[in-house]
Amino acid sequence: MNKKIRLLQSIHFKIAIVFVLLLLVTLEVIGASFVKQLEYQNVRDFKQSLQVTPYIQNQLSNELLNNSGNANKNIKEIIGDMGNSAEIQVVDNKGTIRGVTNLNNQSTVGQKTRNPRVKQVIYSGHTEQEVNESLGSYYTAIQPLTNPSGDSNAVVGAVYIRASMEDVYKRISSITVIFLTSSLVAGLLGMALSIIISRAITRPIDEMKKQAIQMARGDYSGQVKIYGQDELGQLAIAVNNLSVRVEEAQEASESERRRLDSVLSHMTDGVIATDRRGNITIINETGQDFLNVTRDELLGQSLLKVLRISDEYSLRDLLETQQEMVLDFSEQQDHDLILHVDFSLIQKETGYITGLVCVLHDVTEQQKNEQEQREFVSNVSHELRTPLTSVRSYIEALNDGAWQDPELAPNFLKVTQEETDRMIRMINDLLSLSRMDQGTAKMNLEYVNLNEFFGYALDRFDMMIKRDQEHEDDLPKLTTSAGKLPTDDPNKKYSITRDFTKRDLWVEIDTDKFMQVIDNIMNNAIKYSPDGGVITCRLLETHRHVILSISDQGLGIPRKDLGKIFDRFYRVDKARSRKQGGTGLGLAISKEVIEAHRGRVWVDSQEGKGSTFYISLPYEPIDSDGGDWDAI
Ligand code: ADP
Repeated sequence: MNKKIRLLQSIHFKIAIVFVLLLLVTLEVIGASFVKQLEYQNVRDFKQSLQVTPYIQNQLSNELLNNSGNANKNIKEIIGDMGNSAEIQVVDNKGTIRGVTNLNNQSTVGQKTRNPRVKQVIYSGHTEQEVNESLGSYYTAIQPLTNPSGDSNAVVGAVYIRASMEDVYKRISSITVIFLTSSLVAGLLGMALSIIISRAITRPIDEMKKQAIQMARGDYSGQVKIYGQDELGQLAIAVNNLSVRVEEAQEASESERRRLDSVLSHMTDGVIATDRRGNITIINETGQDFLNVTRDELLGQSLLKVLRISDEYSLRDLLETQQEMVLDFSEQQDHDLILHVDFSLIQKETGYITGLVCVLHDVTEQQKNEQEQREFVSNVSHELRTPLTSVRSYIEALNDGAWQDPELAPNFLKVTQEETDRMIRMINDLLSLSRMDQGTAKMNLEYVNLNEFFGYALDRFDMMIKRDQEHEDDLPKLTTSAGKLPTDDPNKKYSITRDFTKRDLWVEIDTDKFMQVIDNIMNNAIKYSPDGGVITCRLLETHRHVILSISDQGLGIPRKDLGKIFDRFYRVDKARSRKQGGTGLGLAISKEVIEAHRGRVWVDSQEGKGSTFYISLPYEPIDSDGGDWDAI
């Protein structure tokens, strides 16, 4: 755009050349007419100066008429007195030369003239003039001499004048040279002047051009200098005002753009704008993250293709109905991502549609929660339906007469009671989970020595083992807080070993709830242990945590289920869990309780070899020197 203007095309040059040409044409015209006039005047004056006055004509005529003895002498004197440099001859009407001024031609006096033109003049009585350019510039004039008295037109002779015009022409040419020199000087001066004038005109234009180019580049810092109040000065003021206005408008739109950009980039929703054809023109960072594609790859792409809905919808569908939709983008990500997509039109005031705006809202969590809720309700119904169905069938059987059977009746009633107990346990578990979910479960925190607390919890299980072994026939008798001794095989043997750190570990816990967690995990360990299995319980400290672990030698948990066993109602083997009176909620409650203690619970398991459940709690060691009363 900013092509350099060549000198020949510049206004500067054009003005200068027009000015100089005008000057030259003017000078040429003036010069030509001046030289012509000068030549005409000079030649006329020269001719006039050579004219024989009537007085001399009379004298010469008288001398020729009288023709006295002194006539030739008198004629010589008269023409000698005419006092110019011309060569003069006087010829009488018989053609005889009577007097000459040229000293070298004195001998011709008295001879007949050989000039036919002289004879012609004497004969015709008319003056004849001639300028001969060939042999130098000579002027020849032949004038008839008439009788001054008597017959008016009687020719008595003629005067022949021949004079060089060299001086006249020399004078004219020297004046012409002076004129040309002055013209040249005037031309040069005019050229210099025109350059200065055109410079004065074009400089402001040039500066305005530069300013306009700067403005086009986005630099509004410059100001055009104002040289005067003429049209150019006003134009310069207008350019300066324009520059300020454009800068203001540019700044306003720039700040608007920045504001929009920052709004867009800080939005937690993805925003995509398209042109009329549905090709992406704007996309914010969240949008790119959702689609897992960079901006450069997305710009210009079809929105329908990017959202992978081109098979079901056309651009017209979106423009006409602006449907909302929920799309699953989990495939593009390494995690679940469900987006709610909302479309709206970008329209001009005239109603002309210039594009689409599409807002992507992450509803993964919401959808997940809804799904979980649905699953939960279906799980609860299912879990309650099974024991209720079995209770009903037993009651029906009793009702149908089994109550009279002394063998069956107590057994049926026992099963009915067990199922009812399980339902009550489940409802209790659900209630405590619900309290935890709502945050209404109050935590009664107290500082306890975890070594003692964990030891006490395990003592209860040891006691149960001992009593069970002493009263094998009475099984099941003893129950923990989590219910009856959790084994389907009353003769199953197992033992508990402890590996505790010697250091007392004081932590702040809700003892009831924590006990429930230990019971849960211990119950499971016992449930899934083989006959004669050893359950190892450890307690150790790390830099900032205490870790409890309970390992069994049971059947273990398949790797694919490891992440799910803390979910509500999740059981690896549903039938077996139910048979053993499990609700599928024990570990879910344990997880909630430990997390309420700002701790973590996890499991490590090898299928067929056993599982280890870990509980870690935050721990700040108390300075042993300060707290050691025995040392005093
Ligand atoms: P349940 O009432 O079924 O025991 P939990 O929430 O306590 O419910 O446990 C969930 C599931 O985790 C159990 O059904 C079982 O499949 C598995 N599980 C828990 N503890 C163990 C363990 N020590 N060994 C093997 N599987 C276990």
